[in-house]
Amino acid sequence: MNADDELAAVKGFAFMDGRWSPLAEASVPILDRGFLRSDATYDVAHVWKGRFFRLNDHVERFQASMAGLRMTLPYSAEDIAGIMIECVRRAYLQDAFVLVACTRGLPQPGTRDPRLCRNRLYAFAQPFVWIADEQQRRDGVHMALAKTRRIPSESLDQRIKNFHWLDLTMSLFEAYDRGATISVLPDADGNITEGPGFNVFVVKDGALATPDHGMFEGITRRTVIEIAADLQLRCEVRRVHADEIHAADEIFMSTTAGGITPVTRFDGRLLGYGRPGPITTRIHDIYWQRHDDDALSTPIDYAG
Ligand code: PLP
Repeated sequence: MNADDELAAVKGFAFMDGRWSPLAEASVPILDRGFLRSDATYDVAHVWKGRFFRLNDHVERFQASMAGLRMTLPYSAEDIAGIMIECVRRAYLQDAFVLVACTRGLPQPGTRDPRLCRNRLYAFAQPFVWIADEQQRRDGVHMALAKTRRIPSESLDQRIKNFHWLDLTMSLFEAYDRGATISVLPDADGNITEGPGFNVFVVKDGALATPDHGMFEGITRRTVIEIAADLQLRCEVRRVHADEIHAADEIFMSTTAGGITPVTRFDGRLLGYGRPGPITTRIHDIYWQRHDDDALSTPIDYAG
């Protein structure tokens, strides 16, 4: 595929600092620090069957990330939500992946002072993106424990969603080299943190555990914790050592890009049931049922 064919295959609609365009024509100025320095924050929400899932939670988290990076925009939470909805309406998508980003912007000519940059808002909607393919979602994925450590939160607060993805991306190459499909990254003490675009849950003897540090606090993770409470399942938010994964009955990943995905093989060994376990399946089903819940989802008026 050449560059034109690649772009022709892109479907969706974008907002770029006040301008709208089809996603294939959307661009970022090359001098934007978001591009040159990964100086940006972002959030990803999704639309399922014409309804945004937890839109306000995503916007609230995005604004908290912006505050963490000392970025400001002339847009309220309602404005940002409205722009995200408008991207989906213009793209006319029922199932969508919706990204919103704030970049540092362009430096004032002749300066390097980030305080002088005018921060810029970008957003786009594209067809829903799955972290795993259909067969992997049905049978479970093969996860590898990476040697690459997650950037510590002392260096970069991982609760701020950021573009520093190289540890995550290089860990994926490690996983592929070892015949796995996905990676999970440890901290310096051998505790697991998260993987490229998802949080991790371990199930043992009917109880769940998920890491409490070094990772991004996913909205899907929050939804799983709420579902576990409703099911009266114990769910601990704590240090989770990599050794616990080998002994787990079930493992699953949680992410906006596909919800709950079972992990059935870890570092080449079959886990627990060797297929998606009952707690993973239950939580998966309830997660998708909650997409119809008026308290958690916002319908899109495509005609309006
Ligand atoms: N961790 C990382 C590094 C992510 O990029 C993501 C999602 O994009 C997650 C975790 C999961 O967060 P959420 O459930 O809000 O999608």
